[in-house]
Amino acid sequence: MEKVVRKAYAKINLGLDVLRRRPDGYHEVKMIMQTVDIWDQLTFLRSSKPGITLRIAGAELPAGKDNLIVRAAELVMAERNLGEGVEIELEKRIPIAAGMAGGSTDAAAVFHGLNELFGLGMSPDRMKELGVKIGADVPYCIMGGTALSEGIGEKLTELPPPPECILVVAKPDINVSTKYVYENLHADQLTEHPDIDGMIQAIRDGSLSGITQRMANVLETVTVKAYPVIHRIKTVMKETGAENALMSGSGPTVFGIFTDERKARDTACRIEEEGLAIQVFVTGFYNEKKERRA
Ligand code: ATP
Repeated sequence: MEKVVRKAYAKINLGLDVLRRRPDGYHEVKMIMQTVDIWDQLTFLRSSKPGITLRIAGAELPAGKDNLIVRAAELVMAERNLGEGVEIELEKRIPIAAGMAGGSTDAAAVFHGLNELFGLGMSPDRMKELGVKIGADVPYCIMGGTALSEGIGEKLTELPPPPECILVVAKPDINVSTKYVYENLHADQLTEHPDIDGMIQAIRDGSLSGITQRMANVLETVTVKAYPVIHRIKTVMKETGAENALMSGSGPTVFGIFTDERKARDTACRIEEEGLAIQVFVTGFYNEKKERRA
């Protein structure tokens, strides 16, 4: 194939718990991951120029080895000893440093994209093994959909898609470093833990209210303290009709779950008018297998 175009979807966390800090510094997590219909577009082209060339539109990001796209492409090329050249174009739409796995999902799209472009026949399991070298969320992004993520993020259990709903996703004008949040989390001092097992059951039962009443994220203890705007966005969402609202990942993005589209749109307008966020989306969950069946 000469050209492959792929969408790389962002994720939110419907629930996020940290069980403990391991002696090696990694944190053991228990999270519910959900793909949402917000995406970057990646185009892969064969090139006569050897090596990897990355072009980026829509954001100021490094285009060299600091970019997770280049790191993922290097891993694939090295694995298969590919001497060929590839050009990759990234159209960035997913908020950056936002708790939505923007970089990880781009890396995941590279594994799929190059697999298709060069006809490599790499299995999803092999892609996940390579992906975890780039980041703990990459294996999940390779799989997408709804999943329980455990260990440091590499132990994945597929779950059925939750019931449909309308999401408002709002990214305030701050960038949060995931490293800062985990370094300032005192996992052993957490007094409350999200009911992740209860949420899994609610997902299996197809109960949206069972999901929304269990939405919780222990990383809010760090990020919301540092950035009160997150609390303000959550409050606005709940006041204007969200079933519940939560920070995603290490933040600062907040999502609200709505069952009424009108209320969701009004909420998005209010958040924009009050200047609480610089990127606001009205969107929904994205489950590829379900979309294919539809
Ligand atoms: P996570 O939810 O996994 O913590 P995030 O949404 O918080 O991810 P990213 O958007 O992935 O964070 O970006 C974190 C940093 O990674 C950015 O500041 C950026 O410099 C770097 N980065 C490298 N490659 C990419 C990429 N393809 N897209 C976005 N950021 C990238």
